[in-house]
Amino acid sequence: MNATGSTAPSGRLGVDERAENWRRLGEEEFDVLVIGGGVVGAGTALDAATRGLRVALVEARDLASGTSSRSSKLFHGGLRYLEQLEFGLVREALRERELMLTRIAPHLVKPVSFLYPLTHRVWERPYTATGLFLYDRMGGAKSVPGQQHLTRAGALRMVPALRRDKLVGGIRYFDAQADDARHTLTVARTAAQYGAVIRTSTQVVDFLHESDRVSGVRVRDVETGEETDVQAGVVVNCAGVWTDQVLQMSGSRGRFRVRASKGVHIVVPREKIVSDSGVILRTPTSVLFIIPWKGHWIIGTTDTDWHLDLAHPAATAKDIAYILDQVNSVLNTPLTTDDIEGVYAGLRPLLAGESEETSKLSREHAVARTAPG
Ligand SMILES: Cc1cc2nc3c(=O)[nH]c(=O)nc-3n(C[C@H](O)[C@H](O)[C@H](O)COP(=O)(O)OP(=O)(O)OC[C@H]3O[C@@H](n4cnc5c(N)ncnc54)[C@H](O)[C@@H]3O)c2cc1C
Repeated sequence: MNATGSTAPSGRLGVDERAENWRRLGEEEFDVLVIGGGVVGAGTALDAATRGLRVALVEARDLASGTSSRSSKLFHGGLRYLEQLEFGLVREALRERELMLTRIAPHLVKPVSFLYPLTHRVWERPYTATGLFLYDRMGGAKSVPGQQHLTRAGALRMVPALRRDKLVGGIRYFDAQADDARHTLTVARTAAQYGAVIRTSTQVVDFLHESDRVSGVRVRDVETGEETDVQAGVVVNCAGVWTDQVLQMSGSRGRFRVRASKGVHIVVPREKIVSDSGVILRTPTSVLFIIPWKGHWIIGTTDTDWHLDLAHPAATAKDIAYILDQVNSVLNTPLTTDDIEGVYAGLRPLLAGESEETSKLSREHAVARTAPG
């Protein structure tokens, strides 16, 4: 029976469920224990719970308190990754985008328009159009409008804030966006509705072993300091940029290392940029988005290594100057630091690899089995 007196799980994650779930963590045995309440952990818990497995998810702080609330909030295939020829990644992401827009979460995920300003005559329009032709079709994408070609005058009518000398024409395409934290919360609550025991402010502090296999974890309620052992057949580490730390705690050796790459966004009021569309701009190493977000624009992002406190990534004056420089290079009326209403920074959990530049590291997910259990 759950805290509301019913036998069916409610999906509620309130105070009563909190006490009840602490008891259950200590008393029950789970098929799967998920570490981390970001979108990856919540998705893993939902997947396992809908297969009928007994699932628990523990999150050290709050759901989506890590990277999963600090993103660009796009459900996109990643036009940039298409240019890097990551066809598999883009196709999969676009298939998910289509499912999100049509079946899974049309109440959360909405289409969003972007103008791609063309800056070179002759070759750039056919080159970009070919990429967008693929982008508009890959993964069965069909519920957002296809690319629309614009003259310079047409592009400036759509985005009057742009400097006339900064484009020779434009192409409008569509992607999708959602409130990332709300999406993660919804996934976690849906998992709870399917019976998963979800508990926040509950940190994994050690691993339990039976001979050579992992048999569960020791968790601490970070509010009370109380600890309990949780028995689980399988423990899944979904700790994002904390993956290596958790792995170290388990005593097993990882197949890969995670490199934290910081991305910063600034938030400015909507009236500071006169535009009917978001904008995607090329930068020397990546792209910069101007994304409509309710009464605001979100502008970003950056891509640099971060070696300090993983729980508190912070923007530097240099990060903000970089974003302002990039965006101001195309705006009629430059933004100043006084226009900035908010700044947030998040850490991408990237697979450490060959490239020195974090912007070139793969955005693919990876799964490794580091120890039995
Ligand atoms: C700047 C930026 C922009 C991005 N833009 C986009 C975008 O537009 N679209 C997109 O799809 N993706 C985007 N991403 C990527 C996306 O945000 C991440 O891939 C995703 O949020 C990672 O989720 P996660 O669950 O792996 O990590 P997190 O959300 O960080 O979750 C990991 C969780 O593990 C918890 N944890 C750690 N240690 C423990 C422990 N010992 N016990 C219990 N819990 C623990 C942490 O508290 C944390 O909540 C962006 C990322 C960044 C940084």
